[in-house]
Amino acid sequence: MVNKSNYEYLLADLTTLKGVGVKTTNLLKKKNINNIFDLLWKLPKSYTDRSLSAKIKDLKIGENQTITVTPQKYSFPRIRNLPNKVICHDETGQIDCIFFNSYEGYVRKILPLGKEVTISGKIGFFKNKYQLTNPKYISEDASLIKQKHNTYSLTEGISEKIYNKIINQIIEKLPFLNEWHSESIINKFDKINWNDAIVKLHKPENVGKYKDNFYQRLAFDEIFSTFLVNSEIRKKIKKIKKKEKSFDLKKQKNLIDKLEFSLTRDQNKTLIEINNDLSSTTKMFRLLQGDVGSGKTIVSLIAAYNTVNSGFQVAVMAPTEILARQHYNFAKKLFSNEIRIELISGKSDYKTKKNILTKLANNEIDIIFGTHAIFQKKVFFNNLGLIIIDEQHKFGVNQRKRLSDKGGDNCDVLLMTATPIPRTLTMTMYGDMDLSIISEKPKSRKPIKTYSKLESKIDDILKFIKKEIKLGNQIFWVCPLIEESKKLDHTSAVKKFEFLNKIFPNQVSLLHGKTEIEEKETILNRFLKKEFQILVSTTIIEVGIDFPNANVIIIENANKFGLSQLHQLRGRVGRGDKDSTCILMFKSNLSENAKKRINILKESNDGFYISEEDMKIRGFGDILGFKQSGIKNFKLADPIHNSDLFLLAEKEMRRIERENEDISKFKPLIKLYDRADVINDIA
Ligand code: ADP
Ligand code: MG
Repeated sequence: MVNKSNYEYLLADLTTLKGVGVKTTNLLKKKNINNIFDLLWKLPKSYTDRSLSAKIKDLKIGENQTITVTPQKYSFPRIRNLPNKVICHDETGQIDCIFFNSYEGYVRKILPLGKEVTISGKIGFFKNKYQLTNPKYISEDASLIKQKHNTYSLTEGISEKIYNKIINQIIEKLPFLNEWHSESIINKFDKINWNDAIVKLHKPENVGKYKDNFYQRLAFDEIFSTFLVNSEIRKKIKKIKKKEKSFDLKKQKNLIDKLEFSLTRDQNKTLIEINNDLSSTTKMFRLLQGDVGSGKTIVSLIAAYNTVNSGFQVAVMAPTEILARQHYNFAKKLFSNEIRIELISGKSDYKTKKNILTKLANNEIDIIFGTHAIFQKKVFFNNLGLIIIDEQHKFGVNQRKRLSDKGGDNCDVLLMTATPIPRTLTMTMYGDMDLSIISEKPKSRKPIKTYSKLESKIDDILKFIKKEIKLGNQIFWVCPLIEESKKLDHTSAVKKFEFLNKIFPNQVSLLHGKTEIEEKETILNRFLKKEFQILVSTTIIEVGIDFPNANVIIIENANKFGLSQLHQLRGRVGRGDKDSTCILMFKSNLSENAKKRINILKESNDGFYISEEDMKIRGFGDILGFKQSGIKNFKLADPIHNSDLFLLAEKEMRRIERENEDISKFKPLIKLYDRADVINDIA
């Protein structure tokens, strides 16, 4: 028996449904549908009103219609690619049912000659005859289907009939869940409860009614559950008591005075925020967000310095070895011999590594630099006080939480990212952390001049490059893909390298996805030392890599990238004090729309603004590949169209935090929507 008030029924395995066996379950699992709740979001795309059954003579071409017919004759051509055909009739006329990619046996089975069947689908007309291609619904029992039916974007191997059956079954057994929202929230959605909302969501006639209460309420649930989980994680981390760090600000000042530049106002502001956290007795869990080139590294290293001066060790982690080494080198210059730093690299031999590990455990190293592998391996610290993680926008909430746990209670956590995200998404992505934002760039920075050029005008570009090389400048040339792929029509980096190498002999090098890491590092170091002038590469030139002497970037097939991605790429240049240029290459003239997009990039150097605009044009999932990153994708909520719901959710969450409201009533919401293993038990 199903306990109707129990949300756990919704988390039950699919096989608990009638008519769903292992085969169907496996098909659904492939689509990441693992339980009943997941199926609730498999929404109808449209519906076919099969109650409106027509006679053949009254069929309307182009419409979805349902007819009852008798199959009369088969045609199974023996030529590949020709469809199978079944001629059917009713008392008013004839219609051909066409099956592409079908087996003869299948067709014979579903349309047996002489037996009346009901079929439906879009009516076509070909060679003076009605046609129905790949009929949608076929049954010998017309009564079964003479009603409204949802059309789903189907999982291969599962028929629409089964889908409808499964969904109907779920809706019938939907447990009644107690309201979790406050009255003021629920009033905004005309008091619709979760159950009614789900039922309405699956009513065929409600397809696409995004503005209706049922849809808005469910979207809100989704957003709110994410915020709530984030808030709980933040609260939990905040509850952890740690030994405060105490350091001498005079020492900090001496270090800053040694710099070749003075810190910007935002660098100072964020440094104060971080220092406050370090010296408090609550654990820091903070994100330092700032556009490319805004100077996050120095801020984090000063924090590391303060931590070391309070008697703790620090781990600085970057997504790649190259980036880790860059930070290490920068720190070496910055700290000279004042503090003990080491780089742990995958390349170092066993003895060196062992030596470093021993020293770490004995507190003979103050700051260790490396990739995230530092935490996967058996690395023991003597007294770890701060973890700094660079460029990790692809870390999800769970990963961050785990990392924070691993460091131990006394360990503060500082994450850095140059991935600007729209305001509405900040709470979604980083709501578990406190936020420090650097929004201004160092004054010496000049805006990167951005141009677009047709590929056919490559000669102009080459001329321009020649001039730049004469001035002693270096150039990035970015190609989207390494292998020539006709289908994607991407330019091959290899070919481009060969092409440029002929024009600029001995001045070009190539980096691509298959370049070994050591070779890659050698190449980048040679580029840094100005041993060659043009670096042709795929998009692998890391976010964060700092080549102050490179001031031109050319991006081929620029329309293959999103605006934010282009902005990040062009952030590879413009780090020195020279004028810098970004040239976006296009295969063909830009459409009006594409022009509008590119203009956003030309007119602004502000990553946050660009990401907002990018999202408006391309949608949330697409910006910077968040889709692949495993970061939560909403099922109903849409950061672009539901920004009001995001704001409302934030407000409500803040209220709950402020009033310290008991959140156990949200347990079903959180368990259902977030599989919140991060919050093991909130009730
Ligand atoms: P990001 O925020 O993208 O990580 P970095 O920390 O790599 O940026 O800084 C980019 C460059 O700017 C570095 O060469 C760094 O030394 C320099 N830089 C940092 N802060 C300032 C500043 N206040 N004035 C001038 N240059 C700075
Ligand atoms: Mg950086």
